[in-house]
Parts: sequence; C-alpha cells; structure tokens
Amino acid sequence: AKELGRNNYQFYSPDMNAKTMRQLGMEAELRKAIERNDLCLHYQPQFEIETGQVVGIEALVRWNHPERGMIPPEDFISLAEETGLIVSIGNWVLSRACAQNRALQDAGLSPLRMAVNLSPRQFNQRDLPEQVAKILRVTGLEPCWLELEITESIIMQDLETTIDQMVRLMELGVRISIDDFGTGYSSLSYLKRFPIQTLKIDRSFVRDIGSDSDDTAIVAAVIALAHNLKLEVVAEGVETQDQLNFLKSRGCDLAQGFLFSRPISAEALLELLLSQAAG
Ligand code: C2E
Ligand code: CA
Ligand code: CA
Ligand code: CA
Repeated sequence: AKELGRNNYQFYSPDMNAKTMRQLGMEAELRKAIERNDLCLHYQPQFEIETGQVVGIEALVRWNHPERGMIPPEDFISLAEETGLIVSIGNWVLSRACAQNRALQDAGLSPLRMAVNLSPRQFNQRDLPEQVAKILRVTGLEPCWLELEITESIIMQDLETTIDQMVRLMELGVRISIDDFGTGYSSLSYLKRFPIQTLKIDRSFVRDIGSDSDDTAIVAAVIALAHNLKLEVVAEGVETQDQLNFLKSRGCDLAQGFLFSRPISAEALLELLLSQAAG
C-alpha cells in the first residue's frame, strides 16, 4: 500500500497538477463560452479553379474570449473532444453554418456549398444523422448545400461502423468529404467503398509544390486518383500563384487558401459574394 501511495504521489507531480488545473479551468471556461454564445464562425471561400468563382465555403470555429481575444480552434478543439463538449459545440457549428448558408440564399445569391468539420467523437455519435436532419429542417437548408468534412482518423476506427454512419448521412442528401487527405494512413482501397464526393489535399503537400518533388508527385497522383474515382478535389492552403498554376495544369477542381482569401467574418463574406455577383 505504501508503494502504491508513493506511485500515486509521483503521478500527481506538481507539474501535472498545474496542467490539470489549467485544463479544468479551461474546461469550465469553455462550458461558459458555449452558454454565453462566445463561439463564432469564420468562413473561408473555396474557388473553382477553372472559372475563379466562389462555389463553396468552409465554416471554421473560433472562441471569442472576453479577455484573451480570438482563440483559434487548435487551442480548444482537442480539449472539447476529450471532455465531450465537442458534441454541443459541433451541433452549434452545424446550426450556425446552415443558417448562414440559408441566409446567403435568401439574400438572392446563387447557392453555395457550406463545408463543416466533424470531429471523430461527433461523427461517432449514433444520432448524428438525426441531428443533421433536424438542423436542416429547422434552418430550411437543402441537404445538397451541406458538406461534412471528416478526417482519416475517423476512418481508422471501425470500418463497417464508419461506412454505416456515412451511408446514413449520405441518405439525407448531404455531401461527405475526406479532409487532410494524405496525412492519415487510410488504405486507398477504402476510398472506393466510401459514399464520398470530395477529397481535400492537405496543405502540407500543397505547400511544397514545386520545391519538393515528392510532394509535387503526391499532389499530382492524388488529383489523378480522385478523378478516376469520380471524386472532386479541393486543394487547401493555396498561397502562391505557382501552386495554383500547377494545380490548374493537373485539373484540380477547387482551391482554398490565403492566395484567394483568409477565413473571414459573415459580413465580409457577404460583401465578397455580392461584389462577385455584381461582376
Ligand atoms: P482544417 O479543417 O484543415 O482547416 C483549414 C485550416 O487551414 C484553417 O485553420 C485555415 O485558416 C487554415 N488555412 C486556410 N488556408 C490557408 C493557407 O493558405 N495557408 C495556411 N498556412 N493556412 C491556411 P483554422 O481555422 O485555424 O482551423 C484549424 C483546424 O481546426 C481545422 O483544420 C480543423 O481541423 C479544426 N476546426 C476548425 N473549425 C472546426 C469545427 O467547427 N469543428 C471541428 N471539429 N474542427 C474544427
Ligand atoms: Ca476542414
Ligand atoms: Ca483540412
Ligand atoms: Ca489541416
């Protein structure tokens, strides 16, 4: 018992304690943020490479902290995932993004696709398809204008369950895309079995187009593979004209990145879309 006690004591080292305390504090704050509506969405447009037109938008969550300012998702999504708070955050993001997309259509703009990120825990909620259906009903958004982005880490869990959940979502009429493609290790043969429409090439490959011949080859191969499987390809993290030229030469469908636009507020998005519509 004494030994055990000592081990326990070691486990709760002062460092660990401080870290746990910080996390507990942050968890409580995050709960408050959800209640107080301190989360907000920014939107990054996706451009059709051929025409230069905005055809899609990705919704990206931020935490507008009263003292610390805008906190990026990287600083709170994993905590939300660990604590389960991601389920309520995720539902809020879905509702907000669908309502925003519906509002753009109501403003007379031609319909765009709204992409929303799903975390593994959120994807694995058995009632996710019912939640999505309800949100579509309440916001009045047609399902075809919603795209759910999932990462390969989801896929690596249980294949049959994953496919089953994807099919239930597909049956609602929403689109599914694989995000950060190439960074996980999903077998290529899985791709054929998934009811998906889009592959998003991770920005780590796009970044090194031109300078790293391996990454350049990977990007070219992913575009060719996706097209063979009748999937649409989105390149993310496009920052330079050279990257865009290469993607265009390979027939990549859509591009998203700082070259076109950073993630922007709903107001700025509306302005951008209105100026595009005006020609
Ligand atoms: P992601 O899904 O890969 O989203 C793209 C991230 O790349 C965004 O970061 C975006 O600002 C950034 N980005 C876009 N274009 C460029 C570029 O040209 N250059 C560079 N360097 N970066 C670019 P953000 O908004 O900080 O989001 C980070 C990650 O947080 C997202 O990566 C996604 O995994 C996660 N995330 C964001 N919103 C949500 C959400 O609502 N739910 C969940 N589960 N995860 C989210
Ligand atoms: Ca994404
Ligand atoms: Ca991504
Ligand atoms: Ca990424």
